[in-house]
Amino acid sequence: MKVVTIGGFGDVTGNSVLVMNDHEAVLVDLGLNMENYIKLSREEDLKLLSLEQLVKAKALPDPEVIKSFLDGKVLRAVVLSHAHLDHIGAVPFLVSKIKPELVIGTSFTIELLKSLFEQKLEHKLGVKLLAMPYKHVFQVGSFKVRLIKVTHSVPETAVIEVNTGQKTFLYANDFKFDNHPLLGGKSDVKTLTNLNPDVVVMESLYALHHGKALSEIIAKEMLADVFRSVPKDKALIVTTFSSHIARLKSITELAKHLNRKPVMLGRSLHKYITASHNASVYKFKKIKMFKYRREVNKFLKIASQHPEKYLLIVTGNQGEPDAVLARMIDRFKFCQDDVVVFSSRTIPTEMNIENRSRLVQELSNLGVSVYEDVHVSGHAHVEDLKQFIKLVNPKLVIPSHADLQRFKALQTIARNLGFESNIMLNNQELSV
Ligand SMILES: [Zn+2]
Repeated sequence: MKVVTIGGFGDVTGNSVLVMNDHEAVLVDLGLNMENYIKLSREEDLKLLSLEQLVKAKALPDPEVIKSFLDGKVLRAVVLSHAHLDHIGAVPFLVSKIKPELVIGTSFTIELLKSLFEQKLEHKLGVKLLAMPYKHVFQVGSFKVRLIKVTHSVPETAVIEVNTGQKTFLYANDFKFDNHPLLGGKSDVKTLTNLNPDVVVMESLYALHHGKALSEIIAKEMLADVFRSVPKDKALIVTTFSSHIARLKSITELAKHLNRKPVMLGRSLHKYITASHNASVYKFKKIKMFKYRREVNKFLKIASQHPEKYLLIVTGNQGEPDAVLARMIDRFKFCQDDVVVFSSRTIPTEMNIENRSRLVQELSNLGVSVYEDVHVSGHAHVEDLKQFIKLVNPKLVIPSHADLQRFKALQTIARNLGFESNIMLNNQELSV
């Protein structure tokens, strides 16, 4: 077996790993680098950007590099771990170049790909998208592929197992062990136990954070606590990651206790909710949604007159100038003691930090009470990482999805437990 690090290993490209035997290959994840992608999309409509522009900006992995590693081998499939864009976002741009026979993922992941790229994906790209249930062993060429359930911050996340015929590769990027998940159930610890993979690639983003990732139930309690202090006659606006269906479910449930009608505003919320409905992950019953700018603006006028009736769920948790929350500064009549809650963390890029702090300042200047970081992480902390390594019992641990400092932290964790660990950077090949 050969394992090639395509993206997510200490530098700027999206997450991706190539797994090969003598004649065939599968690509595990094919993500975008969000920071570089957003820089480009602010200037132009992304649909009009060429693949060359995206590659040059390091917004996605270089298909020529992937092809040179493939060296004529048949690419049987692209197998996706979960629906975050840094894991799936490069698929529509690259499949026509690298020509996999199949794209495989859980139902929500596949529905989201279709929803984001407006259903035309399969037809336009000529590749079959296959939704696969957890635990089902699927034969692709000489490989056996299996998706195993884990909790994360997006529904239907999977650890991916690839058996190449001789060796076993495991991919745990991203996950946490949530003992009280609010959607979709707990991680499948039973199936993960003693998988004994020859190699595991696992996330190390929070390898410097001690303890355990907090449960989603804590985030719901934090929100409930904030909501209790909102004056009855004031506006209540919440923003979170559009992909976080469990969080959105909590917010809509809490809205009912407050006798406020939850209303979702923004295009990306609409896309994720559509995927959630299509994949039967969670149906938001009778939820009002407005996606286009004109209808959002029209509704904001109505909501300004009776803010006490609604709980507005809006896009723009990173302070993005084009998203609904930032646009509300001009379009919504904010009053003293209205409440805005960020149920998210700022992804620490220069642009996000600047956007978000500007927006928070503008809201504060209008007398709005702002609550930040009402949120729990979806990523494994030190104790989750230890638990995972001990459970699956790998021969070799390779850290991914972070920088060298975090790679070293996970390597130390693995070695202290008595496991071998190698650090790999992008475009390196490992023979096992
Ligand atoms: Zn993720």
